[in-house]
Amino acid sequence: MSDDVDEASGVPSADLTALHAPLAGELEAAARRVLASGRFILGAEVAAFERELAAALGVARAVGISSGTDALLALLMAHGVGPGDEVVTTPLSFFATAGVIARVGARPVFADVEPDTLNLAPDRAIEKLGPRARAIVVVHLFGRAARTAPLAAACTSRGLALIEDAAQAIGATSDGRPVGSVGAAALSFFPSKNLGGFGDGGAVVTDDAALADRVALLRSHGATARMRHELVGGNFRLDELQAALLRVKLPHLSRWTERRRGHARRYRAALANLPGLALPPDDDTCVWNQFVVRVRDGRRDELARALAKRKIATAIYYATPLHLQPALASLGHGAGDFPVAEAAAAEVLALPVAAELDDTAIDRVADAVRQFFP
Ligand SMILES: *Cc1c(COP(=O)(O)O)cnc(C)c1O
Repeated sequence: MSDDVDEASGVPSADLTALHAPLAGELEAAARRVLASGRFILGAEVAAFERELAAALGVARAVGISSGTDALLALLMAHGVGPGDEVVTTPLSFFATAGVIARVGARPVFADVEPDTLNLAPDRAIEKLGPRARAIVVVHLFGRAARTAPLAAACTSRGLALIEDAAQAIGATSDGRPVGSVGAAALSFFPSKNLGGFGDGGAVVTDDAALADRVALLRSHGATARMRHELVGGNFRLDELQAALLRVKLPHLSRWTERRRGHARRYRAALANLPGLALPPDDDTCVWNQFVVRVRDGRRDELARALAKRKIATAIYYATPLHLQPALASLGHGAGDFPVAEAAAAEVLALPVAAELDDTAIDRVADAVRQFFP
């Protein structure tokens, strides 16, 4: 009996079926158009999506890529980052951010995050720029733009590349500038991102035309014409089918972002001043890929369990900071190296904030959180 009640009041982290239902006719037409065209790789759909994406984001160029991970990898390759090089980045991100640095043979050099935004702290990052540094990879975590201006200045004066991991931050701005317009940004269309595809996908966006051309070469094994390879690249292409489907969703992105912002405001009003709970800093330009609260006094997992009992989905981004991941053990880090990131990892909890959730769902989550804190 009580299960039925729980079922009725549950809140999922996302409901892509509901998000896509009003677009079903257009999505099916787009898929049929590609099937009928017989062209599945780098055709009219990818080219049109790239133009539409660049225009929507206010950047000069967009290059469709197979995933957000490959977009980061292609950017490192385009900048010639390789063995012996160091790349400064954050310890609080998805593994891909550091994984791609290791994959090109370079060394990830971590710098701690800011305690409020959880984004890379610019002064700490700049301190870590040694003689072998070749680039900074800054992550716009949870949809909140990091402070890129001081990083950009440091990179320019030292001749380093600034790469933005904007997998979670499509449409965000930093000091009024769209992500990707300061250095170059990697976007992800993984289904849970703000603009999710129907499988894997990504893009590089930038105002630097020469860099965009280089990334476009690298995504097809560096080939300029049939069988002529100017660079060693990879197969990093976005499919025609994904591009056609993403073109249907792109015009709705800004409306969906506004819904996420509305949910964030609703949480902020409902959860203000709860002892034991810290809300993410307010920010009108954040696109809220995640709404991540911090639960004090070691009660994070207890709150997650209490919400799970009511079938409210939560997630932990990220339980283990990158410097403590087994795959990067050779870097020689230990607990205590990046205390701000480690403290966050023990306290963060993501609450449902997807565009397709309605106000009632957000209120249910907020009520359940409030009841947990007496
Ligand atoms: C999702 C994500 C990626 C990787 O994107 P994929 O498309 O899944 O390869 C990279 N960095 C961050 C911060 C992400 O959230």
